[in-house]
Amino acid sequence: MIKSIHQTIRLIFAICILVNFTRTASASADDSTGATRVASWKDDRTAAFMLMFDDGWPGQLQVAIPELQKRELTATFYMVPDKGEYKTLAPKWAEAIKGGYIIYGNHTMTHQGVRDYEHAQTEILECTRIIREELQPIPGKPNRLISFAQPGVPKGKWTLPKEDLIRVLEEDNMIKRPTFRGHGAISHLQELEQMTALAEEAIASQGTEYLILHGVERIGSKWQDFWALKQDIFLPLLDYLAEKQAANELWITDHISWHQYETERNAASVKLLQANDSKIELELTASVNPELYDLPLTLITNVPAEWSECQIKQGDRTALVSVTDGKIIYDALPNGATIQISAKK
Ligand SMILES: [Zn+2]
Repeated sequence: MIKSIHQTIRLIFAICILVNFTRTASASADDSTGATRVASWKDDRTAAFMLMFDDGWPGQLQVAIPELQKRELTATFYMVPDKGEYKTLAPKWAEAIKGGYIIYGNHTMTHQGVRDYEHAQTEILECTRIIREELQPIPGKPNRLISFAQPGVPKGKWTLPKEDLIRVLEEDNMIKRPTFRGHGAISHLQELEQMTALAEEAIASQGTEYLILHGVERIGSKWQDFWALKQDIFLPLLDYLAEKQAANELWITDHISWHQYETERNAASVKLLQANDSKIELELTASVNPELYDLPLTLITNVPAEWSECQIKQGDRTALVSVTDGKIIYDALPNGATIQISAKK
C-alpha cells in the first residue's frame, strides 16, 4: 500500500514536470506570426521602481522636483493641505506639475490622525478632493485613482479601524501605498549604496521596489526640512536611477501608474484574431474597470520576417514602430478597439 502511494506520487510529479516543461518550451518557442505577450513592465523594462516624497517639505519643491524633471524621473508627492508649509507654498505646488513627472498623493488633511469613519470623511476625503479638483485636475477623469499614504501620528491619534480605512479608500477610488517599514531614506536607509541596493534587488527579481523620502537638503538655507537627505546622496541617487531608466532596466514611475499597470497586466489576455503576410489583428482585454484602469499596456508581437517597420492602429490611435529581431514593442489600451498591425509601405 505504502509503496503504491509513493509510486502514485512519483507519477504525479513526473506528469507535472512534463506538463511544465512542455508549457515552457511552447512559450519560449512560439515565434509564429502574431504570437503576442504582455510585457511585465511598461516598455518591456526589467523592473519597476518608485520614489515617494512625504509631507510637502520646501526642499521637495526647491530641490527634488527640478532635479527629477531635469532627469525625466517620475515621483509621487504625498500632500498635507492643512499644514502650514503647504498653505504658503500652495501656488508653487500647483505650478510644479507644469514641468511634468509629478503625481500628487493623499497624506491626509492635517497629518494629525483619524478618529473614525465620520472623521475620515473630511480628514481623508477632503485631501483627495483638493488633489483631483484643485492641485492636479485631469480633464475627463474626475474620479481617477489617488494614492494614499497613512501618516505616522502620535500614539492614540489614529483610531480609525482597519476595515473602515479599507471602506473609505474603496468608496473614493484610493489605493494604499506599500509600507514605510524598511523603505525610508534616513530613517531606515542612510547610505547611497543601501538605496541603490533596493533598485538592484528589483532588477534581480524583475519585480518592484521603492524608496520613501521626506526632506531634501537646501544648501545655504538656515532652515532644513525634516529628515533632509543630503544632496551629495540625493543627486547621485537620481543619476543612478536615470542611468538605469535609460538602460531599460528600471521603469521609474508613480504609485498609481504602477498599480494600474500591474492590475491590468494580471487581468489581461490577448486574442489573435487574424495573422497573415500583410496584416495582424489582435484583441487585448482585461477584466478591470476601464474607467479607472486606462493605462496602456506594452505588448510584444512577432511579425513576418520581411517586415522592417509597422503601422499600429487601435481605434483612432496610430503609431509607427520599427521591427527588431522579428518583434515589435508597442503600447495598447486594454478593452479598447481591436489592434491592427500592418507593414509600413
Ligand atoms: Zn508624513
